[in-house]
Amino acid sequence: MKISEQIRDYAKKMLEEGEVKQFIGFEKGRLPFHSTPVFITEPGQVERLIWDDYCITNLSKYLVNFSHEDGKTALVVKGCDSRGIVRLIQDHQLQREKLVLIGIPCQGMKDSLRFFSKGDDSLLSPGGKCQSCTHPNPVLYDILIGEEVKSVNMDRFKKTEEIENLNIDERYLYWSREFARCIRCYACRNVCPACSCLSCYLDQHRVDWHGKDPAENASYLLTRAIHVAGRCIECGECARVCPTGVSVMELNKKLIKDINELFGEQDAGVDFSQTHPLCQYHTDDPDDFQ
Ligand code: SF4
Ligand code: SF4
Ligand code: SF4
Repeated sequence: MKISEQIRDYAKKMLEEGEVKQFIGFEKGRLPFHSTPVFITEPGQVERLIWDDYCITNLSKYLVNFSHEDGKTALVVKGCDSRGIVRLIQDHQLQREKLVLIGIPCQGMKDSLRFFSKGDDSLLSPGGKCQSCTHPNPVLYDILIGEEVKSVNMDRFKKTEEIENLNIDERYLYWSREFARCIRCYACRNVCPACSCLSCYLDQHRVDWHGKDPAENASYLLTRAIHVAGRCIECGECARVCPTGVSVMELNKKLIKDINELFGEQDAGVDFSQTHPLCQYHTDDPDDFQ
């Protein structure tokens, strides 16, 4: 049976039996090569659910909107969605017992945003999302549909090393140009499962709190990178949705690479029992706290 049909069958059964209040998956988008998140609440709507090569969006962040409501939510999860959920549970933004997760191993998704802007319909999203995926299989699920797939991870830090190898002036120029392109739409923040504060420091209503000139773009992007350091699950959504193509993911990768070198290999959002080194402290730490 096709994956789409299995998803519909599970959704219908769960909604009919009242096991879940809603089912979050994908439906065909209005444009070609596009699938879009859909929220199904009635058994009669399950025919809208599909699974294809364009289900690239990380759905995990949507769950935060329903975390304080009664009842369970079901969700289809690829590797990156499931890591987002682990991360949000660790941040106390979600409760595991209110979720039913339909895991689907992922071969890598096509990116309709890239297709429309560049006419590139390659299987792997070249924006860094699927090309450097370390966990294509769901790390957390209740039901698994489909066969496990091998990681498609290719040279995860290649571009990071290229930037590291620039001299200091070249690096300054590189990042100045990246920061200048930011229009501060906050799409990168809004999709991010590691950006889970209900009240973001950027949304303070104070005069001159955080302006929108190029220097303050740098401040925004660097602050955000530091805020998600140790919690970024490398889903690549921040870079994928950026309308001006800022290398947001390269800031995250640099921090992940440095953390790995300093503290040993760590993958955020994979294992509940693992507390990332940047999320813990010891009072007997040999370094002082100043
Ligand atoms: S990042 Fe990994 S799990 Fe997510 S869509 Fe790409 S290949 Fe699939
Ligand atoms: S910073 Fe980007 S890659 Fe990391 S979790 Fe957030 S959206 Fe995903
Ligand atoms: S998505 Fe891109 S343009 Fe929008 S705030 Fe983030 S970096 Fe800036």
